[in-house]
Amino acid sequence: MKYILYYCLIIIIIILIIPLIIIKGCGGLKKDLLDDKKGKNIKVFFHRTNEIKEVEFEDYIRGVVAAEMPASYNIEALKAQAVAARTYAFNKIYGTSSPDPAHPGADVCTDSAHCQAWLSRDEALNNWPASKRGIYWDKISWAVRSTAGELIYFQDQIANPVFHANSGGRTENAENVWAGSSVPYLKGVDSPGEVNSSSYLSQAEFIVGQLGEKIKKVYPDFQIDEKDVANSIKITERNANDRVDTMVIGNKTLKGTEVRKLLDLKSTNFTFEVSGNKVIFKVKGYGHGVGMSQCGANYQAQQGKNYKEILKYYYGGVEISLKLLF
Ligand SMILES: [Zn+2]
Repeated sequence: MKYILYYCLIIIIIILIIPLIIIKGCGGLKKDLLDDKKGKNIKVFFHRTNEIKEVEFEDYIRGVVAAEMPASYNIEALKAQAVAARTYAFNKIYGTSSPDPAHPGADVCTDSAHCQAWLSRDEALNNWPASKRGIYWDKISWAVRSTAGELIYFQDQIANPVFHANSGGRTENAENVWAGSSVPYLKGVDSPGEVNSSSYLSQAEFIVGQLGEKIKKVYPDFQIDEKDVANSIKITERNANDRVDTMVIGNKTLKGTEVRKLLDLKSTNFTFEVSGNKVIFKVKGYGHGVGMSQCGANYQAQQGKNYKEILKYYYGGVEISLKLLF
């Protein structure tokens, strides 16, 4: 009888307890991490309604991925976006850019021109065709969940992983876009596979008078010889990433970044031609061009690269590590 009891005990240990220990050992860290984040919020300033609300941190990341990258993109590109969005948000809460004087009382805002765009689940679903809603939301949720807690570091410091829609074939150095010293992991790299995207090429046409009006808003003394436009506009310097560094328009010498802003061009990678009294800008890419190109990330994912390889390509020298958030 005693032996039977021992046998039963051994069988119970083999069937129940050992598997439990194995499961705990393999999945424990990720589970603890997820449990630990329950109820941890980020303060978000909703720029359209002018209010601050708290959003659960990983829900916030989901809403950013839904707003910032097409859900039709490859899952590895969506994962890369999730890790970049999480790192950006973490920096805004704990890093050098916290607190942000642009929205006191909030860690981030929903203005894509300032922080990161964000959509609620319902808003995201409404943007997608009815037949794709379930698939897309599950895809985005998986991209966020499967990378939970992962952040991008450069030499043990949290990185600032900026991104843009389409580089036009090559990304840009941070110092060429924003004043300040160069950032080692934000340097121009070739970004193949973007040419077939609808955001690769765009065109902007201006009558010379219109062009003048736009420039005069910032430079009231702007002048141009309307009878000799072809000789009044010239690209004087391109940088190593093939973007316009400086150009002359009329009596002004302007930075490429300034021309982009004044004329609302999609990027600084442009050429122009003059036709009669019209100036036509032909623009490659969409966005500031620094860091990860979302379109390029999608192409690399389609070629079999995983999200870590994609992030390490666009942010040279970084590491992706799991961090116990909060
Ligand atoms: Zn902001």
